[in-house]
Amino acid sequence: MERRRGGCLVCGRELVYSEKAREMTCVFCGKKEQSQASCRDGHYVCDACHARKGLDVIRDFCRETKLRDPVAVAQRIMEDPYIYMHGPEHHVLAGAALLAAFCNSGGQLDLEKALSLMEERGSQVPGGACGFWGCCGAGVSAGIYMSIVTGATPLGGRSWGLSNRMTARALAAIGEIGGPRCCKRDTFTAIREAVDMTREELGVEMELPRKITCAFSEENPQCRRGSCPYYDRGNNR
Ligand SMILES: [Zn+2]
Ligand SMILES: [Zn+2]
Repeated sequence: MERRRGGCLVCGRELVYSEKAREMTCVFCGKKEQSQASCRDGHYVCDACHARKGLDVIRDFCRETKLRDPVAVAQRIMEDPYIYMHGPEHHVLAGAALLAAFCNSGGQLDLEKALSLMEERGSQVPGGACGFWGCCGAGVSAGIYMSIVTGATPLGGRSWGLSNRMTARALAAIGEIGGPRCCKRDTFTAIREAVDMTREELGVEMELPRKITCAFSEENPQCRRGSCPYYDRGNNR
């Protein structure tokens, strides 16, 4: 997992990497773990605290935003330094952005409760599920979104069908583009499919940008650039 922004999460100073991992103490919880990275002042944030902060960022933004465009919601959240370039927080992020935009577009939903369910369920989808299980977590997140919105359970009828079809549709679009994984590209793709399916099946009209443009290419060493549908040809070499 790569850390975006490059700076220390506590003081903003440059991060330095030691050649060998050494014991670091998390500034938030005091846990000691082996790591190679800290800032010049020695600040270190453990993985668990980093993940917790990332989830808080997602929830706080989705709770407050009035945006009807879930891609815009996702992009704003992705700007936060607690959100990695790639990481399992996207398994919550995609669905949470959809829930907020759905709610802001007239969809009937207890947003507070929905965001809690999204966090609980999305957090159970492990990193790397895309490559190892054949189901990208951002795609699964769209399915979780559909499940929450329609109140699906394993005993549901139409809601059960819609939820499974949502995941399938998102994964088909994600798989069609092909790898290597990019949590930004896969999130945008899952959201786009969910917006279309929500309009078609539930009659709720969210917004989408005319063209989705990614601002994260420079931070992704595996970016497919010209062969990614969201690559910004204008701003990148
Ligand atoms: Zn620092
Ligand atoms: Zn910690």
